[in-house]
Amino acid sequence: MTYVITSLCTNDGACVEVCPVACIHTTPGAPQFYIDPEVCIDCEQCEIVCPVDAIFKDVDIPAEHEASIEINAAFFRKNKAAVGPVPFDKAWEMVQAAHAYARRQGMAITAAVVDEAGSPIAVGRMDEAGPRSAELAFNKAYTAAAFHLATAELAPQARRPWFRSLIISHRGRIMPESGGIAVVDGSAVLGAIGVAGSSRPEQDILCCQAALAVLESAGH
Ligand code: SF4
Ligand code: SF4
Repeated sequence: MTYVITSLCTNDGACVEVCPVACIHTTPGAPQFYIDPEVCIDCEQCEIVCPVDAIFKDVDIPAEHEASIEINAAFFRKNKAAVGPVPFDKAWEMVQAAHAYARRQGMAITAAVVDEAGSPIAVGRMDEAGPRSAELAFNKAYTAAAFHLATAELAPQARRPWFRSLIISHRGRIMPESGGIAVVDGSAVLGAIGVAGSSRPEQDILCCQAALAVLESAGH
């Protein structure tokens, strides 16, 4: 599901300020703002602040505004820079780099690389890593991709009601715990890496950083 901005929008930009994943945009001269359906995480914050009730959840949109669903999506098809996800061979190198770092530290972890939408590209669980580390690593990567930032930065939001609702609506996949970092190329988010299984959160982060070094040395 996604939220949709309709033609009722008066262009005051209030919703942009509250969107945690920065998925509301417009261009100079455009009649309204638009929501990127591929990035929106259904957190409801924009709908709450809109002074003219111009925003609806796609499944609840009134019939007279149904065309806005396609209008919002088309805006991003036209204006979004075309950047691809991390290619599989690079994603797998990232997983292996995280494993190598963990091995040197005497740890066993799972590393997961996802695309911008949070879909997995490569997941690798070391032999001694706990079974649950695979799910946790994927959840951290999914969360970092959704919010376009490091999951450690989400800790202050974790107890807020809207964030707890988000965790429930995403069936626990949203995880505000250290060990997930977005993969960015300039201003574009390509996806994220998530690591779980070490005994301390900062170790998961260091494994992520070892993985990201693969892309840095490749010129990303
Ligand atoms: S529902 Fe949340 S994530 Fe989606 S556009 Fe509104 S503020 Fe952004
Ligand atoms: S808060 Fe409402 S009126 Fe203001 S830019 Fe967003 S959708 Fe438009």
